[in-house]
Amino acid sequence: MATWKGVRGSSGCRGGSERMVAQRSVLRQGGGRRRLGAGSSLPLGYDQGRRAHSRGGRRETVRVCMAADYYDRLGVKRGASKKEIKNAYRKLARKYHPDVNKEADAEQKFKDISNAYEVLSDDEKKQIYDRFGEAGLKGSPFGPGAGASGMDFSNPFDIFESFFGMGGGGMGGGMGGMGGGGASMRDRPQQGEDIVVRVRLSFLEAVFGCEQEVATSRRETCGSCDGSGIQSGTKPTTCSQCGGAGQVISAVRTPIGTFQQSVPCNACGGSGRTFTPCSSCNGSARVMKNKTLSVRFPAGVDNGSRLRVRGEGNSGRNGGRTGDLYVEVEVERDAELERDGENIKSTVTVGCTDAILGTSVKTRTVDGSVELKIPAGTQPGTTLLMSKRGVPRLGNPNLRGDHLVRVNVKIPNNLTPEEKEKFEEIRELSNQQVKVKQ
Ligand SMILES: [Zn+2]
Ligand SMILES: [Zn+2]
Repeated sequence: MATWKGVRGSSGCRGGSERMVAQRSVLRQGGGRRRLGAGSSLPLGYDQGRRAHSRGGRRETVRVCMAADYYDRLGVKRGASKKEIKNAYRKLARKYHPDVNKEADAEQKFKDISNAYEVLSDDEKKQIYDRFGEAGLKGSPFGPGAGASGMDFSNPFDIFESFFGMGGGGMGGGMGGMGGGGASMRDRPQQGEDIVVRVRLSFLEAVFGCEQEVATSRRETCGSCDGSGIQSGTKPTTCSQCGGAGQVISAVRTPIGTFQQSVPCNACGGSGRTFTPCSSCNGSARVMKNKTLSVRFPAGVDNGSRLRVRGEGNSGRNGGRTGDLYVEVEVERDAELERDGENIKSTVTVGCTDAILGTSVKTRTVDGSVELKIPAGTQPGTTLLMSKRGVPRLGNPNLRGDHLVRVNVKIPNNLTPEEKEKFEEIRELSNQQVKVKQ
């Protein structure tokens, strides 16, 4: 209860009563917050929030809330202008880019910064976030299906690249490589990223294959700007700072002398031009779209199988190829049948007289109920094989595995006097037989 109190206690948080109502059901991620002072709030709130999460300490409770605050992460005030948010992201993303910053937690910080920027730079997402906090985004169309486990953020490197207008080459050798190619790199075709979606199939659906609707959320070329990222009706202009080169020469002092190094132009982020970003995609040239696809799962897929659906990933840039969609399969367990590659395993229990004399039992297989012959004299633990009752081979469904049935023999432990008498007779008989054989 101390946890609850801690969060409610921070009612001084900005955002008003609506925010508080929304938080009550999702206290852990809530946006309830208390700033530590503008300059220090990002790294401080960040680290301590993390630690508090794992320790669950009572004293740090209030800080847990701050960990998720996007404004704090970017070190800007609530109500900061678009430009302030952009500048803050520019500064921090460069500082924490894992290619540059070798500190252990740099990558995580970089991701958090990018996530925060992704939300705060998008009018629609920002509006939801301002009202309901992070929890609001989770149930929204921006999440991977309503009510899913978390918000689906874009690849932070993707955001970084679209922000700084880089080609696919990444950071290259450290800071010097950033935006190195300038204008020409920006226009280079870039292939869209592959995306992965997990799908749960029932046991039998995986065995025999099925067709299922798969919901995906991917980046598609922005229709408003036709994938240019430039607000329609406006034209990009050559950057006045670098004259379009995308880089400026700066002197770097080192212990062994001063070197001239070309660094990406600050004004244009290395692209060599400045333009008004498209209002629909914020200049990233792509927008998130949900699409439901009908996917055919072939017979024989198993836990961890990955199916590739060509051209259903994220759209490319500048005419680059669209990425692929990978559908990862998760197979539900069955109460009786167990999958062992192409074979199916199960267990059947028979009485001892049935094991001795032989019988036939109804056994569940993937093809339905089948009569299984238990031969006379079956030993406990024997495995019987039902040929070709297993899983069709992936890619060649005419070939099938087998169904292996392990036989349990139940020895009765409460015989009726009559049964006991009969068993005594049997014992007598078998003792005599043994004597005869000797
Ligand atoms: Zn656009
Ligand atoms: Zn420039």
